[in-house]
Amino acid sequence: MKRRVFWKNPGYRIGRPVKGIHKTEYLIVGAGITGLMLAHFLLKRGIKGSDITIVEAGVVAGGSTGRSAGILIPEIETETNVGWDTFVVRYGLSLAKKYRRAYRQALNAVEELIEEGGISCEAHTGDFLILARDDEAKERVKSDIRARRLMGERPQGLRGVQLAREFGSPGFIFAERDVEALSVNPLMLAQGIADHLRRQSVRIFEHSPLDSTYGHTARFANGAISFKKIIYARGVGENHRLLHKYVTTIVVTERLKKEELEELKLADLDLFIDEEGTRSFHYGKVTGDGRLLFGYGDVRVRVHSAKTELHSAHLANIKRFIKTMFPKTPLKVAYAWSGAYAIGCKLTAIIEFKKHEVVVNGAGIQLGSIAAAEYVATKLVGKKHPLDPLWEPGSYAK
Ligand SMILES: Cc1cc2nc3c(=O)[nH]c(=O)nc-3n(C[C@H](O)[C@H](O)[C@H](O)COP(=O)(O)OP(=O)(O)OC[C@H]3O[C@@H](n4cnc5c(N)ncnc54)[C@H](O)[C@@H]3O)c2cc1C
Repeated sequence: MKRRVFWKNPGYRIGRPVKGIHKTEYLIVGAGITGLMLAHFLLKRGIKGSDITIVEAGVVAGGSTGRSAGILIPEIETETNVGWDTFVVRYGLSLAKKYRRAYRQALNAVEELIEEGGISCEAHTGDFLILARDDEAKERVKSDIRARRLMGERPQGLRGVQLAREFGSPGFIFAERDVEALSVNPLMLAQGIADHLRRQSVRIFEHSPLDSTYGHTARFANGAISFKKIIYARGVGENHRLLHKYVTTIVVTERLKKEELEELKLADLDLFIDEEGTRSFHYGKVTGDGRLLFGYGDVRVRVHSAKTELHSAHLANIKRFIKTMFPKTPLKVAYAWSGAYAIGCKLTAIIEFKKHEVVVNGAGIQLGSIAAAEYVATKLVGKKHPLDPLWEPGSYAK
């Protein structure tokens, strides 16, 4: 078993570091999905590529983004592992509908970008299932379904034969089926976006950790960049009172034959989440080359980098889970790794505007990061946004 990230993108050429003196309008710190998509949305709002600069401490997507499972689903993932029902109670139906729409638009934006940029990233659209193993989990899943129906959607509850037809694993008693989720190789997606941004004249410096700022100047080991606005999208590199950091773990199996995937009813897999009811839950999918990917976590940590040691308790848990799911099929683990990511403790990403500085972070999930990036881009060009009641200054005091 290899104790490292499975995702690879051999065609990617790493950009040069900051050297000398530069000038920009918008300086984005952090080239994870948040920073990259923010640059994309600024371009879409008419900002010139040559006015946007991204600086990245390591390589593009070297943080949480490139360590993730690449399951893009319109779910909420925050401090207390909750569903849309909690969001409706906390913020009201009208705002919940707008927030949900923002997630859907985030998904569409990624799909359009993949098309527009010709980004090859093993993208596969499908349904995903939220699975319940016991009555308690079933009630939570049902509550999520009720909330989604209130929001005007049509999620489907599956049980018995219907469920068995969809998912070839025993032990689950109920599932919610959602439409439209996207599975990607997250490293290829993010680095593909970076290349597409570069083609539109956005400058991206890699191996360039921001050292400090003084007024409107950012300092680096071998240079400086003066800016009008600086946007921090630093993932777990950010210290903020409303952000917590968690470690989660992923396992990727050896390749399975098509017949084996078919037997497990996973040939055109729906992505899945196993709703356990605590913060921790299992999630999974099939990779582009026919392996099974399983994830599990979370443990709260104090870290400044997404790269962490493989979490042995998580690994043991995932191995047990694989045996429970597929008792008759021995599956061999080929890769396992852990990663840290940031989560805001208010059900949404944390967005803060201060004079010429913006912080955007902690959606906990990539579609949430993208929705937050879209909001920030809109505000930076001075426009109103349907999610102003959620993120306008002071709203976190609620
Ligand atoms: C193991 C794992 C599995 C996950 N699975 C999924 C999943 O399947 N689906 C999903 O939606 N979400 C998943 N997530 C969560 C998701 O990956 C994150 O929420 C998302 O990628 C965060 O993106 P980001 O751009 O905010 O942060 P990051 O991707 O961490 O990007 C921040 C970047 O900022 C850089 N940086 C930090 N400090 C500095 C500095 N001083 N100067 C310059 N650069 C700096 C970092 O190097 C980093 O590249 C998973 C996370 C992990 C760890």
